[in-house]
Amino acid sequence: MKLHEYQAKALFARYGIPTQPGAVITRPEELDGLELRYPVVLKAQVLVGGRGKAGGIRLASTPAEARQHARAILGMSIKGEVVRRLLVAEAAEIEREYYLAITLDREARQLVAIASAAGGIDIEEVARTTPEAVVTRHVDPFLGFQPFSARELAAAVGLRGDLLVAFAGIATSLYRLAVHEEAELAEINPLAVARGGLLAVDAKVILDDSAAFRHPDRPPSEEETELERAARQADLAYVELDGDLAIIGNGAGLVMSTLDVVAQFGGRPANFLDVGGGATTENMAAAMEIALRKPGVRALFINIFGGITRCDHIARAIAAHPPRVPVAVRLTGTNEEDGRRILEAAGIHTFVDAEEAAREAVRLARQAAS
Ligand code: GDP
Ligand code: MN
Repeated sequence: MKLHEYQAKALFARYGIPTQPGAVITRPEELDGLELRYPVVLKAQVLVGGRGKAGGIRLASTPAEARQHARAILGMSIKGEVVRRLLVAEAAEIEREYYLAITLDREARQLVAIASAAGGIDIEEVARTTPEAVVTRHVDPFLGFQPFSARELAAAVGLRGDLLVAFAGIATSLYRLAVHEEAELAEINPLAVARGGLLAVDAKVILDDSAAFRHPDRPPSEEETELERAARQADLAYVELDGDLAIIGNGAGLVMSTLDVVAQFGGRPANFLDVGGGATTENMAAAMEIALRKPGVRALFINIFGGITRCDHIARAIAAHPPRVPVAVRLTGTNEEDGRRILEAAGIHTFVDAEEAAREAVRLARQAAS
């Protein structure tokens, strides 16, 4: 999960990494309430890189100018992401820009510290064109990031004296952050020299999703929709699409082929929802609730190939929660006779053949649309 810059900077503060004083606003009027020293920098909070080049980062020397920029940036779209929040911070007087990151080297099975004196620009580009300008130090997980290693890194990018010590200290803090927060990446670009000290002017943190269960205090991810979040909490694999025919199946392969068949008959899937192998009555009920909560859904297609999953369990869930839209059910495999009986008794017609069922589901969605 990617964090916004303001969220990453809040983490930086907890680990003693210096940042500029600032605040987050969602409306230009909120600028009036801020007690910040001008000039300020206004920064679009979106989860894509290169905000500066896209016009999402602007300096303002007066409140009037700040307001003008805030109006321009809030609501603008950067690489398809609409700007809803602005970070307003006291502008740094940048003298030089460095790059510093801790990231996971999966091949080496170690975290690695990466630094460069060519900061503020795309580090991948630097690595491609002038690889000697990028220095790295792997960190032995049993020894941790040793102070001498951090100082070596600082010296390797050309730092001396107080700045070398400060850089090494920040690198160590960033390493602690990456370990304790279980981040895949903790990056400062640029780490700037300003007024003789070092300052994290930008912040990028990607948290390891697999470790989320150990960090209940993490902010909710903004990369997933409300329904995707509900599905994850119910242990269902769900992807939101933009059609009008909701689809539930058991097994990722089956659901994918269901999407294909539906598309082949001219239907437009509203989602991908996999209840998994061994789905129970409860899973199925939760799946229907989530699939149908999406606005604009006109019909539901349930495609179940019973194995460990029992068709009677699935049928019971459907019969107990009659969908608000027309439904086509394809049921085959374990206990299919029982399942079919339960559904027919509830007035729901079932299919054995997936294509036939798909054709009917597409027809139902089309009929509901007209
Ligand atoms: P990014 O484009 O998304 O990586 O956003 P950054 O926060 O890294 O900002 C891009 C560039 O804008 C930086 O490399 C700086 O050159 C400039 N910038 C950002 N904040 C400040 C600031 O406080 N003062 C000055 N002078 N320049 C800034
Ligand atoms: Mn940056």
